[in-house]
Amino acid sequence: MIDAKDLFKSYGPVKALCGVSFHIAEGEIVGLLGPNGAGKTTVIKILTGFLQPDSGSVQIGGLDVLTHTREVQAQLGYLPENAPLYPELSVQAYLKMIADLRQIAPDEQLAGLSEAIYATGLQEHLTRPIAQLSKGFRQRVGLAQAILHKPKLLILDEPTLGLDPTQIVEVRRLIRRLAEQSTILFSTHILSEVEALCDRVIILMNGEIRADAHLSELAATPDAVLVLADDPAGVDRVLRQLPGVKGVITMRTMDGFPAYRVLGQPSNGPDLCPAIYDLARQHNWPLRELRRDVRTLETVFNELATAA
Ligand code: ATP
Repeated sequence: MIDAKDLFKSYGPVKALCGVSFHIAEGEIVGLLGPNGAGKTTVIKILTGFLQPDSGSVQIGGLDVLTHTREVQAQLGYLPENAPLYPELSVQAYLKMIADLRQIAPDEQLAGLSEAIYATGLQEHLTRPIAQLSKGFRQRVGLAQAILHKPKLLILDEPTLGLDPTQIVEVRRLIRRLAEQSTILFSTHILSEVEALCDRVIILMNGEIRADAHLSELAATPDAVLVLADDPAGVDRVLRQLPGVKGVITMRTMDGFPAYRVLGQPSNGPDLCPAIYDLARQHNWPLRELRRDVRTLETVFNELATAA
């Protein structure tokens, strides 16, 4: 659905993108995560044809964005960071105007408008001027205009920016519903947003992609955690002799059981759990828990940020 290759973009002396490439397949919901100034909006403006890269290419649905800008823009739904709404118009007048601009055939407009209004929960607010809506409802109007023509691809720039916690939950719920029918790429600087909405994340920092992976892959570590019901002698020594183990940290769980973090080799070491399970059976250790250790997205993000 999206193929971005080697995008470079500078604003005068500021290098906003330094060789960004990624591929997003149909049906995916992908978070573009990065701190302020990482280059997220620049990527999104280039994908949507509103900004030209200095070099590199983008194809959307097989069409080159630079040479087929209008066709690509007609295919996709785009919610810019600050959706340009007309505050003096009512919600329905604004959406009708967008339907006309999108050249949706008059006999299809009613169905399209009703679906977008229903999906975004704007039924009760159709006659209100946009200026009188809360920020959360204005964001819904922005989303409604983005989905009016039933695009297969939705690109959302910071869709929950500036919303209160209740509105954030509602907009996320809406995005999840929209993901049933469309491929979605959204940008955010909020880690929990990515965890709440998508399986895959592209982490952008200083104009470069630092990670592009499924959340489970990012969170995985080569370490295992073993918890026993009591404390047989020599567990630590036996664990250290396992191939692929580079160390063992002994601990106690909150409820006082002996626990061991078994440190595997970094960079795709083998999963240690099956071998530890065999050892536990061999030595009759009273097993309470055995699992692969995982990191939070926050830990991964901080590691990537400090590795800069
Ligand atoms: P935020 O989360 O704060 O919106 P972002 O990840 O979307 O940030 P961009 O807006 O793409 O980042 O900006 C990337 C870099 O390019 C930043 O250093 C920013 O200051 C710079 N930049 C963006 N637009 C312009 C512009 N029009 N002129 C000059 N510099 C710009």
